[in-house]
Amino acid sequence: MGYKDLEWFNMALLAKQGWRLVQNPSGLVAKIIKEKYYPQGTFMEANLGRQPSYVWRSIWNARRLLVEGLAWRVGDGSKISIWKDKWVSTSTARLIQSLVLILAQDAKVSELLDKETNWWNTTLVHEVFSAEETGLISNMAERFEVDKGSCSNRDSNKGLWKAIWNNGVPRPVKTFLWKACNNIFPTKENLFKKHVTLDPPCPICSLEGETVGHILWSCPSAHDVWNECTTRINKSTSDYIDFISIMEKMMKRTSEEEMKLVAIAARQIWHRRNSMVFEGKFTSPTTILRISKDQLETHLMAEKQERDRRSTPRRPEAKCWKKLPAGSFKVNWDTLVDNTRRRVGIGHIVRDYGGEVIAMLCETKDYVQDPATAEALAARRGV
Ligand SMILES: [Zn+2]
Repeated sequence: MGYKDLEWFNMALLAKQGWRLVQNPSGLVAKIIKEKYYPQGTFMEANLGRQPSYVWRSIWNARRLLVEGLAWRVGDGSKISIWKDKWVSTSTARLIQSLVLILAQDAKVSELLDKETNWWNTTLVHEVFSAEETGLISNMAERFEVDKGSCSNRDSNKGLWKAIWNNGVPRPVKTFLWKACNNIFPTKENLFKKHVTLDPPCPICSLEGETVGHILWSCPSAHDVWNECTTRINKSTSDYIDFISIMEKMMKRTSEEEMKLVAIAARQIWHRRNSMVFEGKFTSPTTILRISKDQLETHLMAEKQERDRRSTPRRPEAKCWKKLPAGSFKVNWDTLVDNTRRRVGIGHIVRDYGGEVIAMLCETKDYVQDPATAEALAARRGV
């Protein structure tokens, strides 16, 4: 770690201490600092004050990192001022730049939401904001919990995770879906957020930042693939940008079989994106869909074979010799039918419980042609 990195690391730790003051104002340290430096206000509003301690000065200096990093999670939007709070994620300034023309100066974000759909009132958003900010707002991954006033979390997606793991596709495809829904792919946008790349736009269309939702669904290159699928898939969702919402909506509208194809095709689209980025190769939508269908068919066939194998009754276990109980005897017999002479030959052998031969009998019977009758005669004779 270089000196500059160490400096940033230190700053990040101090900012974390500042965040604790915000998150846990009832803690002992938070109470002491508040009492001394901002008795009437909050940490985010506090001035440095006179003769600040070294600790307070350090945390206060690191506060700018928090200011840069803090943005409201929208929730129900009722406490967020459209023009005064930083709530839209951009790589630069987060305060809204569009002029106050239609809504009031102190209007809240909740006024932009359609309470029936839990989504933006898109007409109003278009009227209030510039094209650039409209795009940013529309692309926000947050979904709104109007009733609860908080963002959805992993627990609320339990049904989705269950559906993913129950989806009858190969395990690597399930893992792929889970990662996509959790946004843990190295997309350009994710790498940009981690300061790994300076270039967030989609490497295929360059029209938008490359999020998981974009590259797998809304990118024109992905559209080309989905458009070749069934109508229910290609029309299933267009409003949502984050992949988890797309999946949730699609699972409600498409059949189980269609969802299997969606899962496999999405993975193929991601592989194609990687081939494009790293090898400069681009596979046509038709080929992507054909490969996906082939994979699905192969998988379904393998599943069927496995089902058949499990449902086929097993061969009866081979009978093995068991020692007889003491004092008992065992009679074995066999028959041979001579159809030409209409005669049957019968042989018997009697052993005791130790295996010693006690008696043997060979005889013939005339006028018998049927093997079952011959066996019955032999059995009677043996007894
Ligand atoms: Zn794209």
